[in-house]
Amino acid sequence: MDCRQVQDAALRSTVARLAAAHPFYREHWAGVDLAAVRGIDDLPLLPLTTKAMFTAEPERFRLEPDGSPERQLWDIAYTSGSTSAPAPIYQSAYDFHAILAAQVRMAEIRGMHGEDRIANLYPLTPQPHGAWTRANHAAAVLGATVVCGMSGTSPWFGVTRRLPEVADLLVATRPTVLWGVPSYVRRVVDEVTRRGGTLPDVRMLAISGEAVTPAMAAQLAQLLAAAGAPDVVISNSLGASELQYGLVECVAGAGFHNPVPELLHIDAVDDDGLPVPPGTAGALTMTHLDRHGTVLVRYLLGDRVEVAHDACPHCGRLGGRVVAHHGRSGRSLKIKGQLVDTTVLEAAIAAVPGVADHRAVVRLLDPADPLSGDELVVQVCGSSPPDRVAAAVKLATRVTPAVEFTTADALFPADERMKPRRFVDERPALESRT
Ligand SMILES: [Zn+2]
Repeated sequence: MDCRQVQDAALRSTVARLAAAHPFYREHWAGVDLAAVRGIDDLPLLPLTTKAMFTAEPERFRLEPDGSPERQLWDIAYTSGSTSAPAPIYQSAYDFHAILAAQVRMAEIRGMHGEDRIANLYPLTPQPHGAWTRANHAAAVLGATVVCGMSGTSPWFGVTRRLPEVADLLVATRPTVLWGVPSYVRRVVDEVTRRGGTLPDVRMLAISGEAVTPAMAAQLAQLLAAAGAPDVVISNSLGASELQYGLVECVAGAGFHNPVPELLHIDAVDDDGLPVPPGTAGALTMTHLDRHGTVLVRYLLGDRVEVAHDACPHCGRLGGRVVAHHGRSGRSLKIKGQLVDTTVLEAAIAAVPGVADHRAVVRLLDPADPLSGDELVVQVCGSSPPDRVAAAVKLATRVTPAVEFTTADALFPADERMKPRRFVDERPALESRT
């Protein structure tokens, strides 16, 4: 069977299983002729699922347990909740084993192997999250060595480590792979060199959680060279809590490969939910093809992407690749009277040469006076002249910001969040301003 036939058969089984035992889709698919869904080409017959639908009632997205080993609960992970309340993703025993298989495939594609010594630099979070957890599981299934930085917050037992301790741990254990969110990986490497240490064996940065701009990649390479690792591959990935694994590149620029086409289908769709032609941007959808805990079908992840379905010209793999990422669908909101897309704002700041890290804050000019008007403050650390930052923001958003210089520690002090919060709206909620 070829790749598409495997996916078609898996989709038919999934549709039958969901129609019988998935509380949400039983209702969402009322009126749909499910017998007509014979394969991937028929997916547009099924309505899209939005993130809001899922996060409003995540319990209804879990297959009803039937006593079978496949549906036995194994673990729970939560979405990171940057735009909505964290929602639980249930992994059945079958799903957990599938995640291990997906981690093996990811490692094959990006060139990670059993001889690696992996430094897991994801933070420990108060709620279970797939990043920290699955990096450990990946090491387990690869037979690789893993050491955990253990940044983050432990509200109960204080089991986490501060940045200098993490840096010392890395120097002592000589990892070959640093795995984490790029802004935090950068801070750890910087801390290592500030403390006079080196990381001579590092050969790969496995990163996800944030887009890495060319400027950030260059800076990471420079910092690693200073730490004694001059030849480092930056391996990006596109992860999602809803998957508990990520899409990865075989070589830089080849696109993010779906590592497990037998478990997952991805596509880019237009506003009507129809697949867009190759080379066209659309909304990234994912469909679980063989999952037994939380199951999502035609789920909108919130990214605008181009997806290629041909064989990868570099490694020959099929199964779909995200070949261009046009950012996440941003929040649009009024700042100083202008409608501003927060994604566009963040990208504009990040693209200014010399900006090492940044955060944008919207606040009232007079916190005590809701009618005082608002201002946009862009806080940056790095070496960029402030007028260059202001000009870039003005060009992208038509809003002139105040620019403040600060340090990385002042911007994101506790290393506690999964990802730095790069946009903060401190204004009171709209209701109280009317
Ligand atoms: Zn490839």
